[in-house]
Amino acid sequence: MADNDDADIHRPTAAAEVAELLRRAAADEVPVTVVSGGHGPWSHAPASGVRIELSGLAGIAVEGTTVHIGGGAVWGDVAEALASHGLALSSGDTASVGVGGLTLGGGIGWMVRSRGLAADQLIGAQVVTASGDIVETSAEEHPGLFWGLRGGGGNLGVVTRFDFAAQPLDGIAYADCVVEGDQVAVLRAMRDLLRDAPRELTVTYMDVPPMDPSAPAGARLSAVWAAPDAEALRDVLAPISALDGVTTTVSTPAYRDILLEMPHADGEEPPGFIGGNGLYAELDDDLVDRLVAFRRAYPASVVFLRSLGGAYADIPQEATPFPARTATWFVMAGGFDVPGLVDDVTRATISADWADMAQGRLAEYGNFADTERPDAVPGMFAPEALERLRELKTEWDPHNLLRRNHNIAPEQRAS
Ligand SMILES: Cc1cc2nc3c(=O)[nH]c(=O)nc-3n(C[C@H](O)[C@H](O)[C@H](O)COP(=O)(O)OP(=O)(O)OC[C@H]3O[C@@H](n4cnc5c(N)ncnc54)[C@H](O)[C@@H]3O)c2cc1C
Repeated sequence: MADNDDADIHRPTAAAEVAELLRRAAADEVPVTVVSGGHGPWSHAPASGVRIELSGLAGIAVEGTTVHIGGGAVWGDVAEALASHGLALSSGDTASVGVGGLTLGGGIGWMVRSRGLAADQLIGAQVVTASGDIVETSAEEHPGLFWGLRGGGGNLGVVTRFDFAAQPLDGIAYADCVVEGDQVAVLRAMRDLLRDAPRELTVTYMDVPPMDPSAPAGARLSAVWAAPDAEALRDVLAPISALDGVTTTVSTPAYRDILLEMPHADGEEPPGFIGGNGLYAELDDDLVDRLVAFRRAYPASVVFLRSLGGAYADIPQEATPFPARTATWFVMAGGFDVPGLVDDVTRATISADWADMAQGRLAEYGNFADTERPDAVPGMFAPEALERLRELKTEWDPHNLLRRNHNIAPEQRAS
């Protein structure tokens, strides 16, 4: 997965082994890298210290609607296992992304408006703490720690088992709207539609160049209706499908089948990304215009939007560390820093354009921040949440053993 020649790599199969590894790392005073699905920036950056790959802890057990999932499982396997029980969890859009990284950072998925974030569906967890203790946590047991797991990243411990409350799912309807006409008109119509749309509807808009492996080149809007009702989805999307240059195809696939198969960023060094993401209260006309102009100005750029609201907005801000519950859109935009294609002037303009757009965001979503930027961490949380996370970090990992993440440094204690 990465050139980790200097790391001491372990694949534990039990929480007790993870505990022993953490105790040893603490004694040796070396950093710990925790790997679930391996899509985060720390999994594919070379590092020394101890690397704990959780792929041996990937079991999925269903008890009624409660689902116990090992800390190293990936979401494609979860969707498949739950389908045979007529259940589902909203995760992310990609099969190989890990339950660990996605859930601990939040998790904006295909059913975020009907079921909330992946982290919102969490009801408990088994955590191995930095001191090597194995603790059970939920709203009743160690509630502070449990609060911090739902958006605070991998800062507070190694989660060896996640417990989720799944909901029944009979199937979904899925629409693919290829956009060859006026993108500004489509984005405005999408925004207007989502203001009052039923929460069964979640949409994603992507405009990517041919070089991006995440989707076919061009602009398209994808929509999921959280029930197998193609008619309902067709009806709700009518204002968008009626626009010139939009071709809509609706189908009723299995939820598992819409999860994308994306390779890990192995082997060749991926190009750099100049840009970023934000959670926005409103997708206003100015932001729409800027996003479309940005994509047009830079051939090797991407624009990516996801609808929020619905169940995402039901969760009170203080209930989890995840920021910006009033956000109605997630937006990501950036240019690929392809050697030979992007010169210093263009690099600076892309950066400045993104900085202008970022002005209006409520917060940055850490899971899509694909490099380690300690100075950006305060922008990923509300100030009160950051303060509480820092207190929890001081309590559960006072020596910052778990620092290969969007790190929340513990308070310095007088020795
Ligand atoms: C192709 C692709 C698609 C994506 N799609 C989405 C999407 O649809 N929605 C979305 O919200 N995000 C998405 N993301 C972002 C994704 O949520 C983050 O990259 C996430 O960190 C990946 O989790 P992972 O377990 O695969 O990565 P890892 O690299 O294994 O984990 C990331 C970090 O999480 C921590 N961690 C992981 N597991 C544990 C654990 N069990 N205990 C303690 N700490 C742990 C560690 O700090 C680790 O460095 C996507 C990313 C990629 C590359």
